[in-house]
Amino acid sequence: MERIERAIGAVLGSAVGDALGAPFEFGPPGARAARFPDGPGELCGGGGWDPGEATDDTQMAVLVGESLLEREGLDPADIFDRFRRWAAAEPKDLGLQTEQVLTSGEPWHRAAEAHFRMTGHAAGNGSLMRASTSAVYFAPDGQAATTAAARRIAALTHGDPAAQEGTAVLHELVRVALDGDDPLTAVPDALALVHPAERDRWATVLAADWHPDRATEANGAVWPCLGSALWALRTTGSLPQALAAAVDLGGDTDTVAAVTGTLAGAVYGAEALPRRWTAALHVPLPGYGDRVLRAPELIALARALATR
Ligand SMILES: [Mg+2]
Repeated sequence: MERIERAIGAVLGSAVGDALGAPFEFGPPGARAARFPDGPGELCGGGGWDPGEATDDTQMAVLVGESLLEREGLDPADIFDRFRRWAAAEPKDLGLQTEQVLTSGEPWHRAAEAHFRMTGHAAGNGSLMRASTSAVYFAPDGQAATTAAARRIAALTHGDPAAQEGTAVLHELVRVALDGDDPLTAVPDALALVHPAERDRWATVLAADWHPDRATEANGAVWPCLGSALWALRTTGSLPQALAAAVDLGGDTDTVAAVTGTLAGAVYGAEALPRRWTAALHVPLPGYGDRVLRAPELIALARALATR
């Protein structure tokens, strides 16, 4: 498989996972399977979402990707400005922690850290969910560059080092997958890149025998979210199955499936996505006029990110 096919798979797979999970967000395990007992099912809508409508996960990933292209590299202040403009337009979905940071009035280089110092709680999964575009963009620069960029982009909204380290791990595993290698066997090497203070907790949820039932937090937290994405990839045999398994965990279904799609999309490639899913997919972009990205625009974005 061509590398570009994997890059498109990461971006499109994440967006499709987001839209597949959106109607079941905060629901119980198995809600999707109960509605579609015979397979991965449809992008069905519900809970305020139209069929195929992607949520904040994909919207923020698009904002990151477009900033990287237009600024020709990582410009954290520019990404933060784009996030703020988007948040001010009151998107349907906006994670609590991200909202607090983006609306605090603090400058980009202080907002997330100030929030973390004040609350002590900033290990949400919101920096994992938007990682598909930056993971594709920085992968060709190698392990050190992609993990460093991951930490800096995560730190814009997530002051907790746990979120930054987890986002670095996801970037590294996507880099491995884009090279055509197996990200699951790369987990030990990726863990070696994690800051020692954070490593044990990450090693637990990324272990080959970990199961989402063993999570000690809801999957809106960064550890079980990434752990569940790896579990979904490890325990299924196709991209649609991996995404469906992620959604069927319940809880933060759109984000767990978006993270699963980022990684599994890079493994299986975009052609593994059912046509009926990509045809229904659409990504409104609050704060940016009437822009709505559909699959062709997301594919073009992924191509530009992968071939810059
Ligand atoms: Mg969402």
